[in-house]
Amino acid sequence: MMKKIVITGGAGFIGSHVVRQFVLNYPDIKIINLDSLTYAGNLENLKDIEEEPNYQFVKADITDSKHILEIFEEFQPDGIIHLAAESHVDRSITNPLDFVMTNVVGTVNLLNAAKHIWKDSFEGKRFHHVSTDEVFGALGEEGFFTEETNYDPHSPYSASKASSDHFVRAYADTYGLPIVMTNCSNNYGPNHFPEKLIPLCIHNIINNSPLPIYGDGKYTRDWLFVIDHAKAIDLVFHEGKNGESYNVGGFNEWKNIDLVKELCRQMDEKLGRNAGDSEQLITFVKDRPGHDLRYAIDATKINKELGWMPSVTFEEGLSKTIDWFLNNQEWLNNVTSGDYQNYYQKQYN
Ligand code: NAD
Repeated sequence: MMKKIVITGGAGFIGSHVVRQFVLNYPDIKIINLDSLTYAGNLENLKDIEEEPNYQFVKADITDSKHILEIFEEFQPDGIIHLAAESHVDRSITNPLDFVMTNVVGTVNLLNAAKHIWKDSFEGKRFHHVSTDEVFGALGEEGFFTEETNYDPHSPYSASKASSDHFVRAYADTYGLPIVMTNCSNNYGPNHFPEKLIPLCIHNIINNSPLPIYGDGKYTRDWLFVIDHAKAIDLVFHEGKNGESYNVGGFNEWKNIDLVKELCRQMDEKLGRNAGDSEQLITFVKDRPGHDLRYAIDATKINKELGWMPSVTFEEGLSKTIDWFLNNQEWLNNVTSGDYQNYYQKQYN
């Protein structure tokens, strides 16, 4: 039985849901949330569980190898679940080196620290690396990414995540480090930072601002409710086979334009506006360079081997997400004040 787990990036969007999942479901395991609190990290995301006796927050930057090693030596975790990352493709296009530092160097620092503190025995230890389907590149109209699909990243973000995945596998092959990996499709849900499509559109519909859609809106993504991703991570961390990777997806593909129209439809209903009002805010903007046409995950392996399935349909998950944002407008206003405004102006104007 594990006693301590370090979750990196636990103050971010997905990480906060993973921290909550573990803190509430495993009261006998100490959960250490290790996060440097970049613009994307927000301890408000964890207000409801911060007093739980098995939860502790530690502020640390994974690019600082010395500090990471000190923390690992102090806490002696049996498990690491690694989510800390620079995660936004558009930011990776303007600032690729930040992505190399956190996503590649930071991951290697964590691998080194784990290898060091587990040097006597790997028995009962596990390093779970959380990655993305974007490492596989782009699909045409047909086909799915499986665990065997070759890596073919196109953006600096996906290249940095692909590199980190390779390092994780290399540490398993070279040193025998006990690892598992998950590659997941696009997440959405509560606490999503409003630089990403769904929360950005919810925010802009509330404020009657334009809804910026890249290119012709035909880009297709597979969407998964974030709480279902957190449950998949829990399952793979505990029951996944050593050394294996698992694709996680929602069996749920949407073209961006259709997704935004569905969002507009639900928002009009919830806000008591006339049907079609919010759709008028849709504005097509200049495409992102290197934009991948379609991502689609084949999640058969995690389904067959571990029995995982998404618990909500996309329409239900979207409805829950909109309700959360409407009920937490203060959270939304806090994260969209200050620096976010500068970023937004540069990106879309
Ligand atoms: P996020 O940007 O919301 O959160 C990232 C967290 O990492 C933040 O709390 C931030 O403060 C922290 N962080 C960043 N740099 C750090 C550093 N140098 N040291 C310590 N902490 C640092 O990201 P997210 O969307 O929650 O994604 C989490 C993980 O899941 C990432 O590894 C991402 O690649 C992966 N992923 C995301 C999606 C998605 O749809 N969002 C899909 C698949 C996989």
